[in-house]
This record gives sequence, C-alpha cells and structure tokens, in this order.
Amino acid sequence: MNMSGTVVTRIAPSPTGFFHMGTLRTALFCYLFARQNNGQYLLRIEDTDKIRSKKEYEDDILSSLEWLGIKYDAFFRQSEHLDNHKIFLNQLIDGGNAYVSKEESKDEPGVMREVIRFKNTGETIAFHDLILGDISVDTTDLGDFVIAKDFDTPLYNFAVVVDDCEAGITHVIRGQDHVSNTPRQILLYRALGKPEPKFAHIPLILAEDKQKLSKRKHGAGVSVRHYREQGYLPEALINFMAFIGWNPGTEQEIFSLDELIEAFDIERVQKSPGVFNVEKLNWLNKEYIKKLSNIEQKEWITRFLPDEIRALPNFSEEKLDALIPVIAERIEKFADVRDLTEKGELAVFFETPTAHKELLVFKGSTAEETKEFLQKSREILEALDGSLWSITEIKNALMAFADTLPKRGPFLHPLRSALSGLEKSPDPFTIASIIGKDETLARINAAITLLV
Ligand code: GLU
Repeated sequence: MNMSGTVVTRIAPSPTGFFHMGTLRTALFCYLFARQNNGQYLLRIEDTDKIRSKKEYEDDILSSLEWLGIKYDAFFRQSEHLDNHKIFLNQLIDGGNAYVSKEESKDEPGVMREVIRFKNTGETIAFHDLILGDISVDTTDLGDFVIAKDFDTPLYNFAVVVDDCEAGITHVIRGQDHVSNTPRQILLYRALGKPEPKFAHIPLILAEDKQKLSKRKHGAGVSVRHYREQGYLPEALINFMAFIGWNPGTEQEIFSLDELIEAFDIERVQKSPGVFNVEKLNWLNKEYIKKLSNIEQKEWITRFLPDEIRALPNFSEEKLDALIPVIAERIEKFADVRDLTEKGELAVFFETPTAHKELLVFKGSTAEETKEFLQKSREILEALDGSLWSITEIKNALMAFADTLPKRGPFLHPLRSALSGLEKSPDPFTIASIIGKDETLARINAAITLLV
C-alpha cells in the first residue's frame, strides 16, 4: 500500500518485439491483482533502448491489450521521464551514493567514457517475495554497479526504480528472470530514501519441450499476435494463460476475466515454471467457441472464410447460416476454417463434387453391393417429404434401415462419399440437409452411374 492505501501495479514491457505470451501472463496477473484490490494498473513502455525499440512493437502491445480487454488506468513511456532520471542521478551523486567514473568503453576499446556507478556498501538485502518467500542476498559481489551510461542514458535498474517510485507502485509483479535485479533495485530505493514496493516474481513459462518459451526455438507461437491471427478467442487465451503457474484449487476450469479477478490469489502462484500446453489451449478455445451465439460464430467464421467459398456456384447466405454450427463443431480455432476449405470440406456444400469410384466402396464391400445400397438410400430419401427435409428426418429415415444391417459402414460410407466426393467430410445427413433434396438425389444418381 502507498500513503493513500491504494494498490498500484504496472507492467513495463520493452517495445523490442511483438507482445510476448510471457508478458501477457505478467500483464494478466498484475491486472487481476490490481482489480481485486480496487487498485490502479499502469502501463509503462520501457523504450529507452533507442536502437531496439520500435513504434511497431509499441503499437502491437497496445492493440494486443485492447483486444484482450485488459484495460490500464494510465500509460507512460519511459523515454518521457529522462529529465526525472537526471534529477535523481544528481541526487544520488550529491548524497554520496553514486559517482562519475571515467573508464574505457566496452563498446569502443581505447575510448575513455564517463559512466555513473552506484556506491555499494555491500549490505545483505533481505526481502519477502509474495511468491518465492524470504530471499536474502549478500550484495558485496555486485560491487559498484553502473546505473547510467551517462546523464542521458540511465540503465534498466536505475530507470525502473525511479519510474516505479514516481508512479507510486506498491507491488512489482514480474517474471522470475528479474529476481536477480531486485537486490540492486532495493539498494537504490534505500539510497533514494523511498519506500520499497512489495515484490512478486512469477514463474517462467516453458514450452512443451520443457525449454524456456523463446522466439528462437518456438517461433511465432511466443507472441500474442500469432494466437490472434489463428482465431483464438481473447477470453479463451486469458483463461488459458491464467492457469499457467496458478490454479484456483477447485475443479472449475472455465473462468471469465471477472471471475478470475474474484478467484486469483497471488500467494497461490506456484514457484516452479508452468508449461504451455497447446492442446489444453485448443480444448479451452473450443469450449469458448461452443458458448458463442450463432451470430457470433458466424461473425468469426466469416472473418476467416476464404473468398473462394463465396465465389462457388451454389453459394448462398442461407446455406452458410445452416452450415455455421457444422463448422463450429469441426474447429478448435477459427483459422481451422481455412484448413477445412483447403481440404475441400466446405466446397461440398456449394458445388457438385466429383464422385470417385474407388472412394465409394467401403473396405470389404463390393461395387455391386455399394450400388444396391446407394439405390436404397435414393429410395429412402425420395420418399421423404421435401418440405420436411431436416437433418433429423433424414437421419432417422436412413438409420432405420442402417440398423437392420449387420454393419452400417457398407451402407452409410458410399452415401457420404457420393455426397462429398471426399475421403473425409461431415456426415451424410448434414450434407444432405444443407444441399437440399434435389441436389442430394442428383449426387447419388451420379455415383450410381459410376458403379457397374
Ligand atoms: N522492461 C522490463 C522487461 O520487459 C521490465 C521488467 C520489470 O518489470 O521491472 O522485462
């Protein structure tokens, strides 16, 4: 708590790459902690590395947070605070806690440069980490560490402390890769005469190969934009990320952001790394897809539906509407709509496929038997009232016959293949119900003519 008793947290991403999944998890935990304490949640872009920082990456951080619905209360750029950093550098120097040191530059051998070093008295720093527990570090070995390359170029440990002090941050929640920086930062808080915030270092995220999630090894899958482009729902991604390194201790697995705010407990965050399990993400995403309304499912599917589908000869909006639940059932993420398209599984609804003799015959069956079964299907479907042409009607009628047979495969397989022309496709009842009675009978007839 600060003077006013309000919790203030922040995330401080550097805009040196696309918004990372690890940063998302930190952002989420900070956000949940701030909101459950009716506190403030700040975003500070740490853009002082002029060479590696890019506007494109800052934009990506902002748009990812917006997409995810993680709202911050204030936004800063570290580069806007350089004057402030200078004031505090001078304060440390004037107080005898830092000094200017002329030394050979690491980057330019033979060139002497002035750097600013912290005068480290080498005390033992002890702090209580909300996740890792009590930590105690002898800082003697850190020596007089450099806090600024010059008065205009403060380094991370110093800039972060000044900015966190100025913003009144009460809880620094960040990745465990920063634990080793904390003793240096605490030394700086003390030298500046500022109250130290509480620290909580959250565990790293490992990929399924148990390696640290990294762009070099795991490619695009480390950035939020990848999951956005793949058609994951932001709510599912949040739900999934919340469970990496934390769990509520109950059986409940589906949590909205508001429910997470209720349930989250920083002290239940585990100490050991969490594993990023894509299968779990896909399962969760599917659960969220099921919960969408038909209209929402259609909006998402339309966004990912390749133009070629709308260009097919028998395309109609009504048919697409009828197909939405079928598609939703067959995908885990909306980019799968593109895969279904590529496999031809959607075109079968909007153009007459070519039947293939070798695909029509069920294994262990004969061409003759297949022909008879297709004729039987035709007879059953012809007898159905066209005005009652629904999936239930069609299924009931065909299954009534299929169930009289020792095996259904030799009867149902040729029908499915006749209607789709594919090895794998939605079931024949679904296809028939969407393409209509006339087209169904025409496709069966075309298949029959292939069989002698
Ligand atoms: N810019 C640092 C990072 O992205 C911030 C670390 C911190 O939260 O102090 O890792």
